[in-house]
Amino acid sequence: MTKNKHLALYGGKPVRNAYLPYGRQWIDEEDIKAVTKVLQSEFITTGPMITEFEKAIRDFVGTKYAIAFSSGTAALHAACFAAGITENDEVITTSMTFAASSNCILYLGATPVFADIDPKTFTISPEAIKPLINENTKAIITVDYTGTPAEYDEILSLAQEHGLIVIDDAAHALGATYKQRYIGSIADLTMFSFHPVKHITTGEGGIITTDNHQFYEKLVGFRNHGITRDPQKIIGKHEPWYYEMQEIGLNYRMTDIQAALGLSQMKKIGYFLVKRREYAKKYTEAFKDLEGVITPTEQKYSDSSWHLYIIRLDLSKLRVDRNAIFKALQKENIGVNVHYIPVYLHPYYQQLGYKIGLCPNAESLYEEIITLPLFPKMSEEDLNDVIKGVRKVISYYLIN
Ligand SMILES: *Cc1c(COP(=O)(O)O)cnc(C)c1O
Repeated sequence: MTKNKHLALYGGKPVRNAYLPYGRQWIDEEDIKAVTKVLQSEFITTGPMITEFEKAIRDFVGTKYAIAFSSGTAALHAACFAAGITENDEVITTSMTFAASSNCILYLGATPVFADIDPKTFTISPEAIKPLINENTKAIITVDYTGTPAEYDEILSLAQEHGLIVIDDAAHALGATYKQRYIGSIADLTMFSFHPVKHITTGEGGIITTDNHQFYEKLVGFRNHGITRDPQKIIGKHEPWYYEMQEIGLNYRMTDIQAALGLSQMKKIGYFLVKRREYAKKYTEAFKDLEGVITPTEQKYSDSSWHLYIIRLDLSKLRVDRNAIFKALQKENIGVNVHYIPVYLHPYYQQLGYKIGLCPNAESLYEEIITLPLFPKMSEEDLNDVIKGVRKVISYYLIN
């Protein structure tokens, strides 16, 4: 089905007939069997699959604990709660991210403080964090944007110096490594998301990994209304039916149906990463000499998980802006996207008083980026269509 019936903006047929999205899940027979099995079993929620899925993630990243949640956003909320973030606290984060990375700070009544990005890696800049730290600062929320790990040596040493907790929004970074260590085992608390466009999916879902037992206990409580049945922790009378709500929490539980899907997906994570890395390499190879296009920079000491492949336009070489290039690519039936609108530019944040111009590097990046389709299920042919389409559109609009 052709989503876009128009001919390409500048005449001629689009490079492909079928619309190619920027990301999509991979679900196979094994996944369907795993889910069906749970549906036929006794527990469809909070049963054995949750425990198994949590173990698979924990073993993969190498942490003591992994606690599953109903979404990545719920997991971030829980991480902020476990970190003890409350009103009057400030939390430093990046604006080049999905709104959830800083909304979780607002949920607890605390204040997000936006540090600008590094102009090369596009992740939060440790130099920009430094002057923002004060006596109210409680934590730093990093984002491994596109799958590129943030600068953890510098960030963790700043955190240690000032007694801050580091929460990693690693929604993009399952399988990424920083100096030979898996993302998930580096920050105090790390969140992974299992939304269908992410590395593995549970439909909706998220998880926190940590090595800290106190955080673990807080997270488990928060996921289930703050209720405990643990006789060791009960303050009141010890009856077999008795349970106690000792803190405030929510119903943020993942179902066993979702966990079974996640567990089955984890069997393919190695292959998913190979495919994403292979395709990213091909894009970079194909565009490295294309004028008007700047390909992503990679650090020597980390290995991106390539959730997103983002090209940056060199607008000085083009006759039109990003929006025109974006529309032209859509007409080619290439499902390009923009990740992200700097969070504080959203009306809700504007109304809170954040000023335009706060993070100049993030704002100028935002004007120049386009996300290309990248997911394991896309074929070599799909990839070549994207390359062809980008070459076609960019060459058409080049100043010569
Ligand atoms: C996807 C995503 C989230 C939220 O995850 P959900 O599972 O959709 O709630 C948070 N942060 C970033 C950077 C994301 O990409």
